[in-house]
Amino acid sequence: MTKIDGKQLAADIKEEIAEEVKAIRAAGGKIPHLAAVLVGEDPASQVYVRNKVRDCERVGFNSTLIKKEADTSEEELLAIVNLLNVDDDIDGFIVQLPLPKHINEEKITLAIDPKKDVDGFHPVNFGRMAQGLPCYWPATPFGIMQMLDRYNIETSGKRCVILGRSNIVGTPISILLSRKAKVGNCTVTLTHSRTQNIEEEVKRADIIIAAIGIPNYVTANMVSEGAVVIDVGINRVEDATRKRGYRLVGDVDYENVAPKCSYITPVPGGVGPMTITSLLMNTLKSCKGEVY
Ligand code: NAD
Repeated sequence: MTKIDGKQLAADIKEEIAEEVKAIRAAGGKIPHLAAVLVGEDPASQVYVRNKVRDCERVGFNSTLIKKEADTSEEELLAIVNLLNVDDDIDGFIVQLPLPKHINEEKITLAIDPKKDVDGFHPVNFGRMAQGLPCYWPATPFGIMQMLDRYNIETSGKRCVILGRSNIVGTPISILLSRKAKVGNCTVTLTHSRTQNIEEEVKRADIIIAAIGIPNYVTANMVSEGAVVIDVGINRVEDATRKRGYRLVGDVDYENVAPKCSYITPVPGGVGPMTITSLLMNTLKSCKGEVY
């Protein structure tokens, strides 16, 4: 069994990006610039955005953080998005979700210029991804594709079962893994809360991708010998032995499933750290004009 080390892989990718930025700088080229907009005081969002800005700085990107009060109006936020859309120095930007309830997230996402939508959430990028056109892939599926690619995991002709059909993980990874390309060519089954006999579906899988948000849902009896297991779930479970009173677990019962697998991602330290590298890769691609 090989444990896929997302933390190390993410560090390697960031190192590669940093080297490339160094070369761009030496040649007097345009330095990638990512902007992040944070509205309100949501503690998790503050941490995510801080980490994104910190990682930009570490790889040598320029970064801009725009922090707005929780009572910022939808119009004000739309005005900020429009300014970022036309700012030639900004290669890409993100508006951290969730937004306060009085702001329509869909309206904001649609207002972002798809050419700068490095989160890959705009329906234009989603549609281009579905048609195999150049676009920005959403961060988590992009991270999973990187893992499969860099660990040289064969996907062609394999049966892949995905648990969860969200717009940010399950549905896009089902599209990417069924496309005609090196990491792809899978026969994909997308399962969800209404799927009948889900255990039987999962048991048939060569590759399992769990993204449902239920702790330890995938148990050893559901996994066939030699399966590749990618655990996207991040769930808090109570743990009195930890100072903070909880620990993080995935959607997979790691301890009992791991011995049956050929490859498996841990939680934490698996898919999670790869998500931010996707954002950096998308921003670099935008700066180099490789997508649009
Ligand atoms: P979501 O919460 O939006 O949706 C859950 C999905 O699971 C739905 O499609 C639903 O149909 C399906 N589902 C629910 N119960 C099910 C069941 N019993 N059997 C099969 N399917 C079932 O999903 P999300 O936003 O993709 O998040 C899923 C998990 O992944 C969460 O734990 C989240 O925290 C985590 N996540 C991690 C990362 C990362 O970077 N590692 C990124 C995004 C999400």
